[in-house]
Amino acid sequence: MLKLLIVDDETEICEFLKSFFEERNYTVAIANSGEQAIEQLKKEKPQVVLLDIKMPGMDGIQTLREIKSKNPKSKVIMVTAIETRDKIEECLRLGADNYITKPLSLEYLENDVKEKIESAAKGN
Ligand SMILES: [Mg+2]
Repeated sequence: MLKLLIVDDETEICEFLKSFFEERNYTVAIANSGEQAIEQLKKEKPQVVLLDIKMPGMDGIQTLREIKSKNPKSKVIMVTAIETRDKIEECLRLGADNYITKPLSLEYLENDVKEKIESAAKGN
């Protein structure tokens, strides 16, 4: 099963991406905060996490740290509105597998998710 977790404080983005990926036969869980993301990760065990950087409370960077310390094998793609070079570099250093900037190119995103799932299946 192809399972994705979408984490964004903007519920419309979550809903939009959820229907986009569900139409493509993914099982999609959503979370609107970092705290929720950690819960969902335990419960749903997604292969790939799409993680917004800018969220109130526990932000994407803190969430990434938590995910990578608990589930180092989870693939994480960071999603960010403002391409702040140093934030992205910090995420990559913390183990993020890639990043995508908003406005989202859905074709790019879909290909990247596919690639991460294939690489997870190979145990990378
Ligand atoms: Mg946000």
